[in-house]
Amino acid sequence: MRPVKGLHPLMTFLPSGWSRAHARQRGSHAFACARVALLALVLILLAAAGAPACAAVRKTAAAAARQPPADLRDLDAWLAYQDRAHITALPAEARIFYRRALTAWKSGESSEAVRLTRGAIELDPSYAAPQLKLTTWLLLREPSQAVLGLTALYDLVRRDFLLQHGIAANAVFFLLYALFFAVLAAAALLVALRHQELLHMWEERFGTRLTAVTTRWWAWIYLLLPMVLGLGLAFPTLLFLGMLWPLLRVRERLLFITLVILVAAAPLAPVLMGRLAAPLRADGPPFFGVAAMQNEPATMEQRQRLAALAARHPSNPFVHFGLGWSARRGGDLGTAEAAYRKALERWPDNDRVLVDLGNVLAAKGSFDQALALYQRAIEVAPNNAAAHFNASQVHNRRFDYQAANQEVTRASELDFELVRAFQAETPAPGELPLADQWLPPVTFWRALLDRTASGIGAPAIPPAWRGLLELSVWWFSVTGFLLAVTGVLLGIHWQRRLPVRACSNCGRVVCRRCAERRREMALCPSCTMVAARAASPEFARVLLLQHARRVERSRRLVTTSLATLIPGSGQIAFHRVFGAVSLLASCILIAFPWLGVAPPFTSDQQLAMPADGNPWVALAALGFLYLTSLMSYLRRAARADAARAAAAVPVRSRVAQATRLEREAA
Ligand SMILES: [Zn+2]
Ligand SMILES: [Zn+2]
Repeated sequence: MRPVKGLHPLMTFLPSGWSRAHARQRGSHAFACARVALLALVLILLAAAGAPACAAVRKTAAAAARQPPADLRDLDAWLAYQDRAHITALPAEARIFYRRALTAWKSGESSEAVRLTRGAIELDPSYAAPQLKLTTWLLLREPSQAVLGLTALYDLVRRDFLLQHGIAANAVFFLLYALFFAVLAAAALLVALRHQELLHMWEERFGTRLTAVTTRWWAWIYLLLPMVLGLGLAFPTLLFLGMLWPLLRVRERLLFITLVILVAAAPLAPVLMGRLAAPLRADGPPFFGVAAMQNEPATMEQRQRLAALAARHPSNPFVHFGLGWSARRGGDLGTAEAAYRKALERWPDNDRVLVDLGNVLAAKGSFDQALALYQRAIEVAPNNAAAHFNASQVHNRRFDYQAANQEVTRASELDFELVRAFQAETPAPGELPLADQWLPPVTFWRALLDRTASGIGAPAIPPAWRGLLELSVWWFSVTGFLLAVTGVLLGIHWQRRLPVRACSNCGRVVCRRCAERRREMALCPSCTMVAARAASPEFARVLLLQHARRVERSRRLVTTSLATLIPGSGQIAFHRVFGAVSLLASCILIAFPWLGVAPPFTSDQQLAMPADGNPWVALAALGFLYLTSLMSYLRRAARADAARAAAAVPVRSRVAQATRLEREAA
């Protein structure tokens, strides 16, 4: 619907019912409705002039119409009441009807659930949860409706700082959580898969004084003792992976470094989380609860609280803005003007505050000052539709219809919905319908992320992290770092003194002390024994090859069963560290609802977790990840086997020859 020239100046003075009805019409109805509205205006004026008694009756009728319905189950009555009383949002009632919709959906009454959810959205258009739920419900049934829902949702998120904050802060929390545990799990799996090297280091240290069997036991005890002592997974993993440092590949070393950085940075987590939680606190800087105030009912207590805060924190523009907003809605124009002026001192170029202050001045009748403020707002932000719209209202009031027309046309070009919504509203007689503007999300973000500002949010640990960082984050961090450094130094020292390497034939762990030199090969004790049984070098080679295959088969059995049990471990067996970490992190992210980890940054506006409705989606995703992990492991294993077979071909031909020789000898 395009704005109709010459109609707007009239429309703003039409009675509410008519202009509101007009707003709901489309296209060609505009003229017809305006005519009906004019007729109604004339009739009402005549009636009002002719019958004062009648006016009194109407007044009580109007007061009755503004009474809320008594029945909280009657959605239509509440919608009609909202319409009659011109209330933009009924947040509490919207939540009640939305909860009822969820119950209806669970008991299988889907059409009732959709009706109630739509009602909840209409009762509180800024309430995002029902919008998201409705979109997921309609995704398969009515895709076009779902697309509309998504558009509405995007629009909500774009305008609402608290929604953006909830999404971003919870995403940071979950990503850090998943990253830490994925890296830790991958590192622990790496230690488990390389435990032979670690055991050998221990064995050689104690083997000089103890028998072979006791040595093995002692080595296992040292390996498992830290975990039994309740030091968790992080400390032993840091120490042991550090000791393996000289034997690790580049990618595996990067994994170790990442783990050390994550543990060392742990003390920063409460600081970060505390700052992220700051907007949810009504009693702390930088917002003092102002971020959640946009749709709150303006009460006397709210104004008193904000006035006290403004006196205590004169340099905080949010408190002044909140006070101005609350006072303006409560009709206290003097306080509103003073508060907005204070906010403007801090934010001289904030077009929203300029517009809001202009509105207060316009409401007080200072039209020239108001127009000057709108003009400044337009200079700062040429696309501010509300500044143009409000200017048109002021021009209207001064009967400057040409200027009013220009401004309202510009406003409709910029934001048609705004103009339509405000022309639908009609305030009390003598009042101008002016569009007040809430602060844009970017203003809140800038204050929250301002690095120079101190005292924003006391350090806090989300409940899900308390078990991990229980004792003290500093203690955890310093101990972990020291263990990692000790591990690396010890590993390098031992490796220099007594290098650990792989048996040339079977790949088992050997060192200088236990390996047997056999020409260019260094063999492990069992390979030496096998070779000693053969009479000829050719036959020895055959036996060694058989032995190597047997060892490889049992090793493969272990890695395959591990890969079947834990997604990602197959990748680690083939040194694909980053694939393993991303797989593990994805699994942890999907499994959050089952791990009992709730999003810590919840406000009333919080979008529901996507997984809470349908566990099958999450299960399917987990199954897909598991299969991906297993298939990629099997593919790599097959490739490794093929490569080994190719390398063994010349040997095999010699083997065949040797077997023939052997048979002849027999
Ligand atoms: Zn060997
Ligand atoms: Zn050895």
